[in-house]
Amino acid sequence: MGTLAGRTALVTGGSRGIGRGIAERLAREGALVAVHYGSNREAAELTVKTIEAEGGRAFAIGAELGVPGDARALWEAFDTALAGYEEGATGLDILVNNAGINAHGRIHEVTEEDYDRVFAVNVKAPFFIIREGLGRLRDGGRIVNISSGVTRIAFPAISAYSMTKGALDNLTLTLAQDLGPRGITVNSVSPGVVATDINPWLSDPEARAGVAAYSVFGRVGEPADIADVVAFVASDDARWVTGHALDATGGSMLGV
Ligand code: NAP
Repeated sequence: MGTLAGRTALVTGGSRGIGRGIAERLAREGALVAVHYGSNREAAELTVKTIEAEGGRAFAIGAELGVPGDARALWEAFDTALAGYEEGATGLDILVNNAGINAHGRIHEVTEEDYDRVFAVNVKAPFFIIREGLGRLRDGGRIVNISSGVTRIAFPAISAYSMTKGALDNLTLTLAQDLGPRGITVNSVSPGVVATDINPWLSDPEARAGVAAYSVFGRVGEPADIADVVAFVASDDARWVTGHALDATGGSMLGV
């Protein structure tokens, strides 16, 4: 029996990258996992197949985030798919707000459109997903927000993106206070650079080596490095940890 047997989890952006790693890890712990995707249904179905091949349980749900009504559409898709998967099943225990996009540019380069888009996907969507989902989240549940090491380390070249993760960390803190009486923990997990599609430039060996040097371990992060931390935060072992941002950057730039 895994540590999450009998629990239901939703991982936004579970189709690829870090979210896929999280979905696979939570399923390995016994959770039934809703693997959310925005547009890439095939990737979500591949994640579900991988989980099933390992003996886990999962289903895919699609909803574009960053558009009006996104949270409601996501929960409608979740309710329908869950009831279809398991007759009479409702609600969930673990919500992982992972889906996110990058926005490049120093402050003078960021357009109003870029700014609005990155805030819509990275901040507004998780806020309303939580708001619309609170009635479904059972007491004793878990909310995990995927933040970033950029809340600790300054990267002017991704100024607006960095602000979105600062906002998410504040949501974590604020909600932890609000939801404590229900036994729900709310935490952020903050990755450093991780090898996923969001960082296509990592295919350049020189760039990769440069970024690997940020970490005290001398390598770039992998989705499993983050997923393992999320699995801990989602587990009963982390019942006394809330309102916290866990640094999962491999000790990036500790000495600077
Ligand atoms: P990724 O490989 O690009 O995957 C992004 C995921 O989010 C995909 O599942 C994608 O769905 C979904 N998504 C993106 N935009 C969406 C939208 N508008 N509507 C619905 N779904 C959407 O990214 P990642 O690197 O795994 O990043 C995951 C999270 O970790 C993000 O919040 C990111 O900010 C954070 N993070 C990443 C790094 C890093 O270096 N990789 C570092 C720190 C923090 P589709 O498959 O349908 O496109």
